[in-house]
Amino acid sequence: MIRFKVLLFICLFVMVAKAQSPVKMGVAFSTYFEDKTMRVDYLHSGTSQTESFTLYGIKNEGPWGGRVSVLNDPYQLGLYAFDIVDVASGKVIYTQGFCSVFGEWQTTLESRELNKSFQESVRFPWPKNTFKLVMRKRDSTQVFQEIWAETINPAQYAESQWTYPEVKVRYFLNSGNPKHKVDIVVLADGFTLSDTLEFSKDVNRFMDAFFSVEPFKSRKADFNVAAVYSLSPAEGIRLQKKNFYPSNILGCSYSTFGIDRYVLSDKEWTVRDYAAVVPYDFIVILMNSNKYGGGGIYNLYITASARIPNADYVMVHEMGHHIAGLADEYYTSEVAYQVSVPHYEPWEFNITALLDPTKLKWKEMVEPGTPIPTPWNKQDYEKTMKLNISKEPFQGKVGAFEGAGYLSQGMYRPEVNCIMFSHSLTFCRVCQDGLNKVLDIYVAK
Ligand SMILES: [Zn+2]
Repeated sequence: MIRFKVLLFICLFVMVAKAQSPVKMGVAFSTYFEDKTMRVDYLHSGTSQTESFTLYGIKNEGPWGGRVSVLNDPYQLGLYAFDIVDVASGKVIYTQGFCSVFGEWQTTLESRELNKSFQESVRFPWPKNTFKLVMRKRDSTQVFQEIWAETINPAQYAESQWTYPEVKVRYFLNSGNPKHKVDIVVLADGFTLSDTLEFSKDVNRFMDAFFSVEPFKSRKADFNVAAVYSLSPAEGIRLQKKNFYPSNILGCSYSTFGIDRYVLSDKEWTVRDYAAVVPYDFIVILMNSNKYGGGGIYNLYITASARIPNADYVMVHEMGHHIAGLADEYYTSEVAYQVSVPHYEPWEFNITALLDPTKLKWKEMVEPGTPIPTPWNKQDYEKTMKLNISKEPFQGKVGAFEGAGYLSQGMYRPEVNCIMFSHSLTFCRVCQDGLNKVLDIYVAK
């Protein structure tokens, strides 16, 4: 949920913006890959100061539905990134940036005292030849450093065809070949067999919300949306009320990291098992709950209560985190001030520390004559917690408005208002631009 993304932000925020320069593009898919999906499961373990990776298993998830033209992620957003390196040629043949639950957990007090493991996976097209899986993480100056590598011979896993869970699947939007579309899979958590109709209604609720907002609205034909009826033996979501522990199949739970409305799953491999029933790029977990809550992690999944008054806002906002790693632009939650002013530029598309105003990362979108930083009625907003848009001198303009990413000072957002800032149902232009950049690499031919 917006307010509860602070932990994620801190973890992302410690690192800076200098994404490693984009790796060479234009690797031909068929030269290096078969049309199958390889999923590598591993345990990501450690404390606030340490981390390690243990390979757990490799699965063949069936036909590849992801990127086939732009194989090396040109943006490398997120706290982590992985590379697939062809051992024979030494070439990086696939890369992807991402964030993880472990990365968030490392910012909690608990991680100072405990050593804990989390399920994680990375997915990529099935390499034809022996490859090295290289894991990288941003250091304190935001530069990626290698932290783990394993050499894997795919021939050893050729027979590892995995059995899909037997579940009902329904396409709510089928726009074409998954290899050139953005494939969203919607999963159910806490729905029983008798709730299937309700789940279908909730998927429609998600569709209505998502496709009513730009840039998704005018790009609807770029998307496929499939619902997987991952039913649970009992109704509801863990801790949606006090002492309530139903056996919801995907393991979503309120009170993640002690934050009441923050919902994540501790069963990432189960989530992916159900997601992989169809080719997918992004995962939406709809929860059979009327308690406000959710979460969204870049390149992992979103969770959202489907039956709350602000469900549309929550779903779309979380998709901003999930698809393009957009930062929260708000700064008024009480935990905001635990974050310190950065010495390095954050990597997210939509916030800046404005360390050098002449190099503002979205400067090409700023009209001449717009002052940087850009004045706004910050004091009034902080008093009333309401934006009076009609009184904002630079309303609708792109600039650099102080107050963003949980920081009242020293962090700036691109427009005075955005769905990453308030409950407005509009992404600002910089957020839209970031989303479009990411969506483009999934549909490229
Ligand atoms: Zn924005």
